[in-house]
Amino acid sequence: MPSRKFADGEVVRGRWPGSSLYYEVEVLSHDSNSQLYSVKYKDGTELELKESDIKEKFPLSQESSYIPTQYSLHPRREEVKLKEIDSKEEKIVTKGPTSLRTFEVTATQQKDLEFGGVPGVFLIMLGLPAFLFLLLLMCKQEEPSLLNFPPPLPALYDLWETRVFGAYLLWFFLQALFYLLPIGKVVEGTPLTDGRRLKYRLNGFYAFILTSVLVGASFFWDVELYYVYSHFLQCALAATVFSVVLSVYLYARALKAPRNELSPASSGNAVYDFFIGRELNPRIGTFDLKYFCELRPGLIGWVVINLVMLLAEMKLQGRTVPSLAMVLVNSFQLLYVVDALWNEEALLTTMDIIHDGFGFMLAFGDLVWVPFIYSFQAFYLVGHPTELSWPMASLIIALKLCGFVIFRCANSQKNAFRKNPTDPKLAHLKTIHTATGKNLLVSGWWGFVRHPNYLGDLIMALAWSLPCGFNHILPYFYVIYFTILLVHREARDERHCRKKYGLAWEKYCQRVPYRIFPYIY
Ligand code: NDP
Repeated sequence: MPSRKFADGEVVRGRWPGSSLYYEVEVLSHDSNSQLYSVKYKDGTELELKESDIKEKFPLSQESSYIPTQYSLHPRREEVKLKEIDSKEEKIVTKGPTSLRTFEVTATQQKDLEFGGVPGVFLIMLGLPAFLFLLLLMCKQEEPSLLNFPPPLPALYDLWETRVFGAYLLWFFLQALFYLLPIGKVVEGTPLTDGRRLKYRLNGFYAFILTSVLVGASFFWDVELYYVYSHFLQCALAATVFSVVLSVYLYARALKAPRNELSPASSGNAVYDFFIGRELNPRIGTFDLKYFCELRPGLIGWVVINLVMLLAEMKLQGRTVPSLAMVLVNSFQLLYVVDALWNEEALLTTMDIIHDGFGFMLAFGDLVWVPFIYSFQAFYLVGHPTELSWPMASLIIALKLCGFVIFRCANSQKNAFRKNPTDPKLAHLKTIHTATGKNLLVSGWWGFVRHPNYLGDLIMALAWSLPCGFNHILPYFYVIYFTILLVHREARDERHCRKKYGLAWEKYCQRVPYRIFPYIY
C-alpha cells in the first residue's frame, strides 16, 4: 500500500491550482484511493491536491528568505488598502453565490483535455497540414472561388525538393545563430513551480535587423528571391517536415524530463502530449527551443515571404512599383512583426510560454502556420491583382491604426501592471484583489472588455484582408480563422483564470461582462 508523506494537521506549502505559486496550507485528510490530500488554505479555501503539488514547509531559518519571493495569501500593505476599498465597493459581489466555491473545488480535481481531447488533437494534427496545402493550392488557381474546390492536386513527389529543405535548414540555423549572439538584455521569466526563474535573452529585434541586412545584401548578390514564390508549396512542405521531426524530438526528450519540468497542460496521454507538448521549457543548454521558435524563424520568415510576394507581384504583373494593396498588406504586417519583436519581453507572460508545453501545436503553428498562412493575403495579391482607391485605402489605414492602438495599449497596460503593480502611472486604474496576491485590472482597457488585446488583434486582421477586395472570400480566411482561434483561446484563458482566481475572477466577470466584442460577446 503506498504510504502518505504528510500527516493530518501538518502545515505545509500547497500549490495554488493552475498557477506556479505555493501557499501555506493545513493538511485536513488523505484519501488512500485517489491519493489526494484535502488541504485548507489560510483564506479558508479547501481543495484536494496531489502529493506532487505539496511541499514541506521551510524551516524557520529559511522561511524569512522564502516569503519575499513568493506571493502570499496575506495581502500586502497596499493590497490591504485596495481590499478595503474593494469590499466597501463590492459587498454584493463578494458575497457571491455559494455554487462558485463548489466549482472552484471540483474544477481542480480533474484534468481537462482541451481541443476535443485525444480524438480532437489527432484530427487537428492530420487536418491542419492537409488544410494548409489545400488553401495554398486554391489560392494558386486563376479563379479561386469556393465553387472550384477541390483544386487540382499535384503529385506528392513534386512537392518535395531536397534543395528547398536544405535552404529551410539554413534559414532555421541562421536564426538560431542570431539568437545565440550575446547582444540584448537578459531578463527573467515568470516563476516556475519550484520557484526558479529561467533567463531569456531579448534579441529578437536585433535578429530582425541582421536578417534585413542579409536580405538587402541578397539584392546585390543577385540572389533570386522569386525562387521562394515559385517553390512556395515546396517551402511549406519543408517547414512542415521540419516541424514534425522537431515535435518527435521534443516528445522523445520529454519522456526523460523530470516531473517538475512538465507543462501544466500535459496529460500523460502520448497523443495528447505529442500535440500540446509535454515539456514546458525544453532547453539545450541555455538555448530555449520554444522561446526561440515563437518569434524568430516563423515570424521573421513571414515578413521575408511578404517581401518575396511583393517582388513576385511586380515581376508577374509587369509593374514598376507594387500595387497599393500589396504595399498596405506588407506595411501592416511588418508593423505587427516589428511590434512583437520590439516588445519581445511580453511573450514571457503569454499562455504559450507559461502554460502550454512545446509540442506539435506550437512547432507547427510557429514554423509553418504563421509564415505560410499569415502571408496569405500577399500570396493572393500576386495572382489576383486588386486596385484600391485612395479613399478606400485611407479607411483601411484608419481601421488598422485603430486596431493597433487598442492592441498595443491593452497589452502594454497589462504588462506594465504585471511588472510593477504599484507603478504611479497606473495609480488611476481600479483593481480587484485576488487570493493569490496578484490583482486584476478592472478599469482602463481591461475594464472595457475582458480581452481588449484580442479585439485590437481582430480589427487589425480585418484591415489586412480588406486590401484584397471583395471578389473572393479566400483572403478573408485569415480573419475568420483568427476569430475562431481567439474566441477559443479566450475560453481557455477564462478557464485558467477561473481556476487561478476563483471568486475574484467571477467578480471581474460581473464588473466587465463582455469577453471580446463590447455589447456582442
Ligand atoms: P493575454 O496577453 O490576454 O494574457 C491573458 C492573461 O492576462 C491571463 O491569463 C491573466 O494572467 C492576465 N489577465 C487577464 N485579465 C486580466 C486583468 N483584468 N488584469 C490583469 N491581468 C489580467 O493572452 P495571450 O497570451 O493569449 O495573448 C497575448 C497577445 O498575443 C494578445 O494580444 C493576442 O491577441 C496575441 N496573439 C496573437 C496570435 C497570433 O497568431 N497572431 C495568437 C495568440 C495570441 P495572469 O493574471 O496570470 O497575469
